[in-house]
Amino acid sequence: MERVFNFSAGPAMIAQSVLEKAQNELVSYADKGMSVMEMSHRSSMYVDIFNETKALLKELMNVPDDYEILFMQGGATLQFSGVPLNLMVNGKADYVDSGNFAHLAAEEAKRYGEVNIVASSREDNYTYVPAIDQIRWNADADYAYITTNNTIYGTRYTAIPDTGAIPLVADASSNILSEELDVTKFGVIFAGAQKNIDPAGLCIMIIRKDLMGKQNALCPKLMNWALQSKNDSMLNTPNTYGIYMAKLGFEWLKDLGGVPAIYQQNVYKANLLYDFIDNSALFTAPARKDCRSLMNVTFVTGDADKDAAFVKFAAANGLVNLKGHRSVGGMRASIYNAMPVEGVQKLIEVMKAFEKENR
Ligand SMILES: *Cc1c(COP(=O)(O)O)cnc(C)c1O
Repeated sequence: MERVFNFSAGPAMIAQSVLEKAQNELVSYADKGMSVMEMSHRSSMYVDIFNETKALLKELMNVPDDYEILFMQGGATLQFSGVPLNLMVNGKADYVDSGNFAHLAAEEAKRYGEVNIVASSREDNYTYVPAIDQIRWNADADYAYITTNNTIYGTRYTAIPDTGAIPLVADASSNILSEELDVTKFGVIFAGAQKNIDPAGLCIMIIRKDLMGKQNALCPKLMNWALQSKNDSMLNTPNTYGIYMAKLGFEWLKDLGGVPAIYQQNVYKANLLYDFIDNSALFTAPARKDCRSLMNVTFVTGDADKDAAFVKFAAANGLVNLKGHRSVGGMRASIYNAMPVEGVQKLIEVMKAFEKENR
């Protein structure tokens, strides 16, 4: 069976070479005579895999020594609760409401303290990200919260705010490892793996060490970052296979030249698509130009029936999952790291063909 180009927002495409490597090692990993799935998480053979995965992420993202890397479960969403439970010492936090996931994170944090929405683009259907240089952060906020890429609306921050002494927390689920992020500007970065890394079920966290140990007394043990750090993410059985798959993904990215190299490729792919849309007589892109995402390209025809017809037409041509999120409609092409350039080129060809018939 020929593989399709899968534009799903997540779980999303994984590089074919990564899948094949996993396939080759599925029944017996190296000379171990067992699958990674069958290994005890405490065994030295598995701990080696775990440590390599951690070291690769550290290398790929230039994570300084004063930051801890955790491999958690519960997706990115569990950390919508984990962040306030671990960081709300004075019970106050600043949130930027730049999209659906940012909104959900703020709503969840309200359960634990006072949430100040310091900037929002909600009234404008999240077609842009609020300007961060104009934000006045509250000096007594326990942390400042942003979402670096807004998966559903196809917008992103192109600069990271300077929040001074207030730790900056970022949900980078949909653009981690797609462009360089200066980790030193953040207190916490977290990301669900199923967009730019590997299968779902793993949440990657990068936490400045001095921010750990301030958790709420009622913080569940498994969400306690300090305790997880002390136990190297193995307070209970971690997502052993997901962590192994992340290792394969990190190796693939490193072989490609790491984040700077994939960033070039991501810019190239996104520009191809945006340039075509900007010159199209049928398709337009709702996201404001200065904050367009490199990972999620949203576009519409302006007619819901035509949108639906296009999604069907594309699927018949081997381009699947182009339907926009149910809350916004239209189309969305998620073109994460593992989407080959050929996938984007094919999409443009198919859009051209559809445009010719449907102007
Ligand atoms: C997908 C996504 C989430 C939710 O991730 P889960 O792993 O399903 O919890 C949160 N934030 C952003 C930015 C996302 O793209």
